Amino acid sequence: MLDSRIELSVTDRCGWGGGKLAVTFIQDCVECISLRREYSRATTAHIALEGKLRIAALAHDRERVDTLSPQVESAAVSRAAAREAMKAHEQIAHPASGAEEA
Ligand SMILES: [Zn+2]
Repeated sequence: MLDSRIELSVTDRCGWGGGKLAVTFIQDCVECISLRREYSRATTAHIALEGKLRIAALAHDRERVDTLSPQVESAAVSRAAAREAMKAHEQIAHPASGAEEA
């Protein structure tokens, strides 16, 4: 009977502490979902082009490097723009992200 008291004090210490994950995106916001999808698409495209450029560079394919370089640059710009759009929307539509909605 006395043992159960000891058990309780042990399990008390095993609970989740104050560790909390910050959620940047608001799950149900259609705009967030769409912007996130666009950012994800731009990121995938940028990474794919970078990979192609790297292969062309390794193969010393100067012509292909010249063709791909501006494409990689513009993909990087698109990716950054998508990221900015996402951040801008969050600041306007969800100014207190993580906090309760007003
Ligand atoms: Zn949103």
